[in-house]
Amino acid sequence: MTRDVDDQHVLAAVSTGRLPRFGRVEELLADAHARYRDDDSGVVADYIPALASADRALFGLSVVDVDGSVHVVGDADHEFSVQSISKAFVYALALEEHGHDAVREAVGVNATGLPFNSVMAVELNDGSPMNPMVNAGAIAVTALVPGASPAARWQYLHDGLSAFAGRPLALDVEVYESEAASNQRNRAIARLLESYGRLARDPLETTDLYTQQCALRVSARDLAVMGATLADGGINPVTHERVVDASVCRHVLAALAASGLYERSGEWLDDVGMPGKSGVSGGIVTVAPGKGALATYSAPLDDAGNSVRGVRATRFLSAELGLNLFASRPDATHDREDVR
Ligand code: GLU
Repeated sequence: MTRDVDDQHVLAAVSTGRLPRFGRVEELLADAHARYRDDDSGVVADYIPALASADRALFGLSVVDVDGSVHVVGDADHEFSVQSISKAFVYALALEEHGHDAVREAVGVNATGLPFNSVMAVELNDGSPMNPMVNAGAIAVTALVPGASPAARWQYLHDGLSAFAGRPLALDVEVYESEAASNQRNRAIARLLESYGRLARDPLETTDLYTQQCALRVSARDLAVMGATLADGGINPVTHERVVDASVCRHVLAALAASGLYERSGEWLDDVGMPGKSGVSGGIVTVAPGKGALATYSAPLDDAGNSVRGVRATRFLSAELGLNLFASRPDATHDREDVR
C-alpha cells in the first residue's frame, strides 16, 4: 500500500500531557491493589505445563513515567515468563531492523478475529500471518531476526528485550523446556507459513527461538519500564538508552491497539482506551504515549486469556490517572454564547 503521509508529518502530532504528580500516582496504585487483591476469579493457564504451578495470590502493579519515576506496589518484583508480551518488543526490533513497509508487507496489521494460536486464520487468509500479535505473525516476525546462527539470533533478541527492560533478562529454563516439549501447534503454524512461502527461515529453528523469547523472565516493574520506552519515543526513561526510533513505537502501539488483548481487544480499547499487550502467564503492559506505562501481574485469566485482576486494575487506573486516549472535554476557549 502506498502511504500519503510521511513520518515527519505524523511525528509532528504527538500525544501530550503528563501523568499526575508522583504522590498521586502512588496513592492510586495502592488503591488499585487494595481494590482487586481479594478478587480470586479466573483460571491459571496450564497448556504449557510449567505455568500451572503459578501462585494465584501474587498481584503486582507498576507505573513508570517518561520522566523516569518508577512506582511499584504488591508483588511487582516477582518474575514470570513474558510469553506473548514479547511479541510487542520483538516486533519493535524487527521494525527498527527492516523498516515499517517491509515488515508490514510480510506480516500485516489487521486483527484475525480468531484465537491467538489459530491455524485456520492462516488458511482463511491465503497464508498471511495477518498481524504480529497472534502466534503466526509473531513467528513470522521472529524469523526476521538478524544473525548468522541460531545463537547469534538469540543473542540479538536477548540484548534487545533487555535494553527495553534496562537490565539483563534471564531465561526461565523450566518454562522454555516445558513449552518446547508441548508446542506442536506452534511448530505446525510455522510449517504452514513455510508452505505458503511466508517464513524467512527454517520453521523449527524459528519456533524454538520464539519459544525462548516467550520464556524470558520479567517482573511487572520490568514490563512498565519496557512499556514506558514505547511511550517515550523509543528512549528507555530509566537508563536513557535509545532502544528504537520514535516511528517504531507508533507502529507497535497501533498493532497493540488493534490486537493486543486477544479477542477482547475491542472491549479493552472501549474500556481502557490505550494500547496494551497481555500474555498467558498473567502479565499485561499498557502504554500511554508521551506519558508512561502501567504493568500488572496476576496469573488467573479470563476465558480470553487476559489476567482478571490485571484487566480490572488497568481499567480503574486508566480512568483515575486520566489516560484514555479517546477522552476529550470541550475546548476551554469556548465561551457560553459560543456553545449552543
Ligand atoms: N508462548 C505462548 C504460546 O505461543 C505464548 C502465548 C501467549 O502468551 O499468548 O502459546
